[in-house]
Amino acid sequence: MKHYIPRAYVPGTTVLLLTDTSKMPTPSWGLPAKEACPYALGGHGSICGVCYADKGSYTQYPGVKRAQRARFAWVRECLKTEAGTDEFVRVMVDAIGRTRDRATGGPAEYFRVHDSGDLFSPAYTWDMPEMAISYKAH
Ligand code: SF4
Repeated sequence: MKHYIPRAYVPGTTVLLLTDTSKMPTPSWGLPAKEACPYALGGHGSICGVCYADKGSYTQYPGVKRAQRARFAWVRECLKTEAGTDEFVRVMVDAIGRTRDRATGGPAEYFRVHDSGDLFSPAYTWDMPEMAISYKAH
């Protein structure tokens, strides 16, 4: 793997918060494909009719889907309250800030928000600029 992923866990679980997939040059965050996505509304006729994250190692290893679902459950719970939403942003920004590029030892240059899954609700979507602003001030 190209990056050091901090030992940051989905709160209340032993599931790592972040991911480092072999095919991408960045650390990332992954939610369950087709469940945390526009696909959940649009189905086969949607832009997600052919999903890159619903094959290969994403489906080969049950632990991957379990981890994605644990992240999804946590973020949905967080989004129920303002305090939870703040907590989501805080925990994510802290973990992203601790990722490292193994080659340079410095901070990872980029972070991909979704290696699987996508913006699944308006409230979650609004968290993305919050995270970016908060990360910049971090
Ligand atoms: S992971 Fe991407 S392509 Fe797959 S269903 Fe979700 S949004 Fe669509």
